[in-house]
Amino acid sequence: MNLSAFNEFLWTNRLNTGFGIQFELIYLIIAGAVTILLGVSLLARRTERIEEVTVITDDVTTTLECTVCGYQWKEIFSQTQLESMGFPRNRTISRRKCPVCGRFTRPKIVEVRAPRTF
Ligand SMILES: [Zn+2]
Repeated sequence: MNLSAFNEFLWTNRLNTGFGIQFELIYLIIAGAVTILLGVSLLARRTERIEEVTVITDDVTTTLECTVCGYQWKEIFSQTQLESMGFPRNRTISRRKCPVCGRFTRPKIVEVRAPRTF
């Protein structure tokens, strides 16, 4: 083996190693990007689910019934408002005037429904 051949061998070897390192770097970058993308999509899906839950539990349409004349009407409450009134253990709400008989009564909650269901 003469010197020029040895030199050539060194160069090709170095070139090969260089390519190898470059390939590994590209592979690592791609793997990293894929991992980040996966993490982001998972996070996005999780936030989406949280939003969905808040939409469902936010506003609910309740059907109220006058305890005097039995007239029924609908009112919209937020879930937290209902919970602060003691619902579902307490099914009567604060005193208000019935729109039909005009008497002050504590209407009964006969139905609770989310206006938008997903
Ligand atoms: Zn009434």
